[in-house]
Amino acid sequence: MGIGFPGPLNAETGTIFNPPNLQGWDSVPLRDILEKELKVPVAIENDANAAALGEWWKGAGSGADSLFCITLGTGVGGGIILDGKVWHGASSIAGEIGHTTVIRDGIKCSCGNIGCLEAYACSGGILKRVNDALLNERDNGMQPLTNLKQVNQMAMQGNEIVLNVIKETGVILGIAIANIANLLNPEMIVLFGGVTNLGEHLVVPLKEEVKGRAFKKATDSLRIELSQLGDNSGILGAARNIFSKL
Ligand SMILES: [Zn+2]
Repeated sequence: MGIGFPGPLNAETGTIFNPPNLQGWDSVPLRDILEKELKVPVAIENDANAAALGEWWKGAGSGADSLFCITLGTGVGGGIILDGKVWHGASSIAGEIGHTTVIRDGIKCSCGNIGCLEAYACSGGILKRVNDALLNERDNGMQPLTNLKQVNQMAMQGNEIVLNVIKETGVILGIAIANIANLLNPEMIVLFGGVTNLGEHLVVPLKEEVKGRAFKKATDSLRIELSQLGDNSGILGAARNIFSKL
């Protein structure tokens, strides 16, 4: 059985470390518990790494030697594939692009740092920034927006205030991706998750920013594409992970 699990874990031992969204799961040997109960081999991978593995195996990154997959949803996560393998780092933290700093004196992030990418580019962060930008309209009786679909609708209708917030989000993401491009020089960046539904309004400024900031050598060979597998990327990645261990 292959599992993609949301939160920090040791993929070698299958032990879960204190995930922020699942209280009481500190140091849980999940792989050993499941193997004992189910009597089948079990492999556990962080969900963002599983999504990266899925996209590399059967999705947008098929055939790439190196890939960085960024998940843009309720949080911002990342998974790194180097030479066809997940890169975990020395203590299983590699790929946490969402908690790299993009604005020195920026918004406070749920992780405790300030100015993290996630605080700007996760769905809740975008929604808050859109509602803040629409303060005048809301003073005149407009209800606050509650989801990204509404944000997208207003963008489609050409609302300049909303379009500006989406553009700024694209620029901030572009800064983070330019850093990845210079640091790792990957063949591909795959963007995944509900925030990507903002489409060209997000992706066009993002790509311009990457081109403007990273080394030409890094961007000439870099493909930035949207996920082809959607929600199935994590499932396929978790499957690939257990297949590779059998
Ligand atoms: Zn953070």
